[in-house]
Amino acid sequence: PSAWTICLTPQGKQFNQEMALDLSSKSHLILLCGRYEGVDERVRGLFVDEEISIGDYVLTGGELAAMVIIDAVSRLLPGVLGSDRSAEEDSFFNSLLEHPQYTRPFNFQGSCVPEVLLSGNHSAISLWRRREALKRTLVRRPDLLPKANLSEEDKRLLEEILQESRTDKSGDGV
Ligand code: SAM
Repeated sequence: PSAWTICLTPQGKQFNQEMALDLSSKSHLILLCGRYEGVDERVRGLFVDEEISIGDYVLTGGELAAMVIIDAVSRLLPGVLGSDRSAEEDSFFNSLLEHPQYTRPFNFQGSCVPEVLLSGNHSAISLWRRREALKRTLVRRPDLLPKANLSEEDKRLLEEILQESRTDKSGDGV
């Protein structure tokens, strides 16, 4: 009886990280998947708490949409990821995209890992990552920034990034 019932439909509210976080606090979820023309309108009115779409396109059935929701929600539950902080560093947490990721080798076809990441200086690495996350969000998803909880330091970094792009027009599209 305490389950939160979701109907998967292209006509629902578009799924996002904030909704995933909200659903992760529910004790039980029921995901109702339609086929063919969808679900009888009376079921919606009588049993459904929320209608969710995973995007503006039409699938054959709701099962894949349900899988998307199950994956996005379950990785926010304690103990599912290796570290509970992992999800907090992902894109969309606090409305920012994640900073770029690098792995071995240091030099791959002439393209090197930024020196700061090998410095062992944790505060410099954190600052670099935060700056890159802000820059990436500004370039790729500026619509997210007004919703981000930005500190005074973040605002200073954004100003610096904008200033740099004004002086260096060869920059990466800021
Ligand atoms: N006739 C419906 C309409 O135009 O709104 C589409 C029905 S669709 C072919 C069959 C089922 O796939 C839907 O009932 C829903 O469960 C699922 N579905 C299709 N697209 C979806 C989407 N974008 N998000 C979530 N579920 C979707």
